[in-house]
Amino acid sequence: MIALGGGPLRDGLRIVEAYRMLVHFWGTRGSLPATVRKEQVAEKISRALRQAIAEGVSADGVDDFVARLPFDVAGSYGCNTSCVEIQGGTEPVLCDAGSGLRDYGTHAMRSGLKPPQTFHLFLSHLHWDHIHGFPFFVPAFLPGNTIHVYAGHARVEEALTRQQDPISFPLRLDQMGAKIHFHGLEPGQRIEVAGLQVSGIAQNHPGDSYGYRFEKDGRAVVYSTDSEHLAESDDPDYRFLDFFKDADLLIFDAQYNLADHFHTKATWGHSSNMMAVELAMRSGVKRLCLFHNEHTLDDAQLEKFLKDSRRYAELTDANSPLRIDLAHDGLEIEL
Ligand SMILES: [Zn+2]
Ligand SMILES: [Zn+2]
Repeated sequence: MIALGGGPLRDGLRIVEAYRMLVHFWGTRGSLPATVRKEQVAEKISRALRQAIAEGVSADGVDDFVARLPFDVAGSYGCNTSCVEIQGGTEPVLCDAGSGLRDYGTHAMRSGLKPPQTFHLFLSHLHWDHIHGFPFFVPAFLPGNTIHVYAGHARVEEALTRQQDPISFPLRLDQMGAKIHFHGLEPGQRIEVAGLQVSGIAQNHPGDSYGYRFEKDGRAVVYSTDSEHLAESDDPDYRFLDFFKDADLLIFDAQYNLADHFHTKATWGHSSNMMAVELAMRSGVKRLCLFHNEHTLDDAQLEKFLKDSRRYAELTDANSPLRIDLAHDGLEIEL
């Protein structure tokens, strides 16, 4: 086992109680960033106004009314690609460098995480949507900062260097200012990073991907995106059942619904919401967060996707205590 990180919490790092972990989602879209178009905003306003008129809401009641609106009307699932912050360690720990990493970096600077600061970044794999936020990660430009990058892929440094080749980006990786260290991880290897126990698993995805399990004081968060579960998942000894076992939170790639997965998108390397529910239940997971949201779905469609997923869980086991959420940019889950 190797140990990295440590030291006291620095000013500006949100302090969670010693026994708790907190997960903040900075980017949740799969494959590509998405946007909320003008006509979609207009539809949200229309739905809200029609409901307000039907309820006879007065000017004094507007704030309460807005607070009661469905999430897809009053909010949005967001636009950024994958980036998830795992709080509870002694230093910042992040999963993936999608476009959400830009917003995390801005937040870190505003929160006072100035040099010298160490960041730990776990990459699931090297597809664009999991690395394209790195050139916009402001702390990586600041001398004095250190960034440890962990990945199962041997070519991670090559991939990050290539995306900042001058033909693609104005600044090369080696001009960024911070010290960047790369650490190769073997599936099954356990390491300690910033006070968290971390283990990895190889996943089925074009070009391979890796899931990570973070544990601290009996709490466990599993980050498992860009992972397709095929017929072998029916096996009672399926290796992911042990990796997910009793997790307090499972963040799971559910880019598709079952029909899409089977009819047109099998072997594309992603899973369905139904597979998420089934594996979570079989593993004794307490809370499931569907993740890597399909970039072509709007907020109303994603809201329906979440309802369908919860309905499927009810039909599968009405007494299951499993709680299901759909990730959105800005979502925080305390454990
Ligand atoms: Zn992806
Ligand atoms: Zn991928």
